Amino acid sequence: MDPALLDRLENYLRYMQQIGYAGLAVERSPFKPVGEPGKVVPMRPAAPPTVPAAKPATAKAKPKTPAAEKPRPLANLVSIMDMMDAAAPAEDTADKAASIGGADGDEALRNLYQAFYQCQACALGSTRRRFVFGEGPPDAELMFVGEGPGAEDDRAGRPFLGDAGELLTRIVKSMGLQRGDVFIANVVKCHPSNGRAPLPDEIASCSPILAKQVEIVKPKVIVALGPTALRFFKGPEASIMRSRGRFFPWRGIPVMPTYHPAYVLRNPRAKRDVWEDIQQVMAKLGMPGAP
Ligand code: URA
Repeated sequence: MDPALLDRLENYLRYMQQIGYAGLAVERSPFKPVGEPGKVVPMRPAAPPTVPAAKPATAKAKPKTPAAEKPRPLANLVSIMDMMDAAAPAEDTADKAASIGGADGDEALRNLYQAFYQCQACALGSTRRRFVFGEGPPDAELMFVGEGPGAEDDRAGRPFLGDAGELLTRIVKSMGLQRGDVFIANVVKCHPSNGRAPLPDEIASCSPILAKQVEIVKPKVIVALGPTALRFFKGPEASIMRSRGRFFPWRGIPVMPTYHPAYVLRNPRAKRDVWEDIQQVMAKLGMPGAP
């Protein structure tokens, strides 16, 4: 069996255990011939977590039957089926995103959001607070793409709200635009806890959503902010240091790679490079004030 699929299955089973089911197991035998099922035993409710016993009102209070000894109601089985659906592997994310349509851009974006806001296709689904879809006009001419939501974005469900977001807003304003004039999205839609970078399998699961957003919005220019966004458009070997400042096409759309605002905050000298890159973007869009 595909090791990535086994990882996903294992994560899923761990999640199932967390919500109170036990007795499921996958045997990871490298020698098992393809097609032979792993050892999977039927689900049964797990014992509930131990909680300190409440003081009985009278010394002889009758002990209560633990809730977990009762069979789980059917509603739980239904939600388990839903979760199995949501925990689909990356290929399914791609199929699902590709199948989304709508009468116009606005409706297509809404449908895309509806299809994924409860996504559990990767591990980030179980740790995020809010799914951060991205925001902006469905017909924006300019799209900025970052890496993934920060902690503040995770709480609010909106991209680029923290310090890096403030700098991005200033960059947009320096172009003579308002933040609401541009579409802002990320490669991954869920915050990786502790501020770590998203993992390759998380990026792979989530990427089809961004690809679909670009297909729907059809911006005239995309600005890739930092290495994760650059690699989404240019491939895993691309370097932001070597690529920044030069347009390249992605599905016919010019992409300008530049430094991520968080990097600029740590390295203020990079501001000048970003400004030069942004001026090229303005020129490409034929904006007033462009060089
Ligand atoms: N917030 C975002 O939405 N994206 C980033 O890349 C960083 C912070």
